[in-house]
Amino acid sequence: MSADAPTDDICKTCEKPPALCVCDAVTPVDNHVAVVILRHPQEQDRLLGTARIAVLQLKNAVLKTGLSWPSLARLVGQDVDPKRWGVLYLGTAKTSAPLAPRPLTVVDKAGEAMADQDDILAGLEGIILLDGNWQQAKALWWRNAWMLKCRRLLLQPPRASYYGNLRKEPRGESVSTIEAAAYSLAALAHDEALAERILPPFKRLLEKARAAKPEPKRDYRRRGADGKPRRPQRAR
Ligand SMILES: [Zn+2]
Repeated sequence: MSADAPTDDICKTCEKPPALCVCDAVTPVDNHVAVVILRHPQEQDRLLGTARIAVLQLKNAVLKTGLSWPSLARLVGQDVDPKRWGVLYLGTAKTSAPLAPRPLTVVDKAGEAMADQDDILAGLEGIILLDGNWQQAKALWWRNAWMLKCRRLLLQPPRASYYGNLRKEPRGESVSTIEAAAYSLAALAHDEALAERILPPFKRLLEKARAAKPEPKRDYRRRGADGKPRRPQRAR
């Protein structure tokens, strides 16, 4: 199976090849805070990408593929206050002080944690996630100036990505797009269990992917004492 499998051999619903179709694991979950996933048009990880699965699994979520949108209002199709929307910023925190041990932190343009965290998070109506590799996510960030008016959110995932050794390309400490959505929504809802209700189709995808390919070299599987992989992973 290869990433350039013919498109007629792709499940129309989950966009996976038949061997990796996860439709039977999809059980849509109610999410109070809306999710908008912006997917870079060159995002090509058909096999392990999770944006499509995320919008299947979340009742209040949309996936948009493109490079730029004129405004948040045009993107979501209604007049909204950008201050009530957060963009999951994929960079590492450039804060002068360590971030508080909380899953989501609102930072200002300088990357410093803002004072009124709880109020801002409680007021969020939606979150935006950028789907693609690091360069693609950065391109989306810079091409959509309206994002600067939104809240900037830093996610500290509660655990290493379930991708484990399946994703080898180094890229910051990150998780898949669906994991980022799940952990963010769980944090906003103050409901840790919510993440585990969102992730089953992703876990099914990984099971199938592991079954479909031989085990990689053992070195990839080594983990640090904290349970986090030593090799950084790539966000999708
Ligand atoms: Zn499917």
